[in-house]
Amino acid sequence: MSKVLIIGGGHGGANTAFALRKDGFEGEIDIVSDESYLPYHRPPLSKDFLKQKIAQEKLIFKSDNYYQDQNISINLNTRIDAIDLESNTAFSDGASFHFDYLVFATGASPRLLSMENADANNLFYLRQITDVLSMHKQINTFKNIVLIGGGYIGLEVASAMIELGLKVTIIEAEDRILKRVTSPELSKFYNDFHTKKGVEIICNAKVDGLIAKEKNINSVSLESGENIPSDMILVGIGAVPNIQLAESIGLECENGIKTDQYCRTSVPNILALGDCTSSFNALLNKELRLESVPNALAQSKVVSSSITGNDLFNSEVPWFWSDQYDLKLQMAGISHGYNECHILGDINSTEFIACYGKDGYLIAVDSVNQSKQFMLFKRALSNGFKLEMNLIKNKNFNPESIFSGSN
Ligand code: NAP
Repeated sequence: MSKVLIIGGGHGGANTAFALRKDGFEGEIDIVSDESYLPYHRPPLSKDFLKQKIAQEKLIFKSDNYYQDQNISINLNTRIDAIDLESNTAFSDGASFHFDYLVFATGASPRLLSMENADANNLFYLRQITDVLSMHKQINTFKNIVLIGGGYIGLEVASAMIELGLKVTIIEAEDRILKRVTSPELSKFYNDFHTKKGVEIICNAKVDGLIAKEKNINSVSLESGENIPSDMILVGIGAVPNIQLAESIGLECENGIKTDQYCRTSVPNILALGDCTSSFNALLNKELRLESVPNALAQSKVVSSSITGNDLFNSEVPWFWSDQYDLKLQMAGISHGYNECHILGDINSTEFIACYGKDGYLIAVDSVNQSKQFMLFKRALSNGFKLEMNLIKNKNFNPESIFSGSN
């Protein structure tokens, strides 16, 4: 009977094991994770778990019993550091794992800030439970928090910290927050909203020093000469795919482990999914590296299908969400390269959808607190509908008409 070894116990790795059992795979499944916890939900780490509003045990996907019942062997605190492709064996310090299929679900790691005092006791990253647990130990003593990076991590943590009553400053290197993922219109909306809540946002800013005493930073200095007092620093300056192990065995990598639409790598019995991959998406007809939970979940089904001899492939429309204060941001499609943006609703309110068009057709939407309408657009984009921007820009346009055909 064949044996699947999954490296990585995040959303992608764990859900691959669940999907395999659901698809009737009866062979052995081993998950190897270098974390100490059963696979868990990461999105609450920058929100309710950070605010200590949910207990740690609520984060896990499934209890120990589930893994036992499903005969999924889970090896925590275990890191694979070598693989022999001749014998199909992976090695960790003290153990070896034979496999017929190997699945890379190694994820991504926070991009590290490299400067003096970046190893201080009050400087944090946010990716794993342990990061948040270390923050919890000190959180009651914090008053001034400096967030380096105005991406999803920076903004979600800003929203949580404002709710906890802290003074929050965001330092962003680009000329606007969320630049990597959205349009100037949305960046301005989020900038204004956070500012009204009391967050100070400094764009076009470069950190040039972390001023510390006995491994505790007390201020962050900027190239402009400004000095920002801080007793906690959180760095959210992006993520880098974990591909070193894949590269060491010669898998083709380019901004992630390269896979085809079936999540197959350049070696026949090795598959890969999630944040560590650059995978071919048949819907968009290109390779993408997506850092998102929905992508990892969709690809876990594809990996399982490829192992069990079925025909599912990557064709899901990329989508993302981010909760900040009482704003639910939902994004579908990839807006890069758009040449028109039309706002449905009022961007000065907290309910609207930004529609991005290219060459006359809709390619992506960013929705704020409009979940019902968002789902209609997402469905249309998923089905490859060619929605004309002219139709969307018509003042009588109603998203419900996309499927009822009444426009
Ligand atoms: P991110 O979304 O890439 O944003 C990081 C921001 O920091 C970018 O604008 C980046 O600019 C800027 N930056 C880079 N170096 C800097 C520096 N030295 N000083 C100040 N700013 C700097 O990354 P993230 O917020 O760290 O998130 C990490 C990962 O977690 C991402 O994969 C993200 O998708 C994921 N995540 C997702 C969610 C969600 O989907 N809701 C929530 C949390 C985390 P450049 O682009 O110029 O580098």
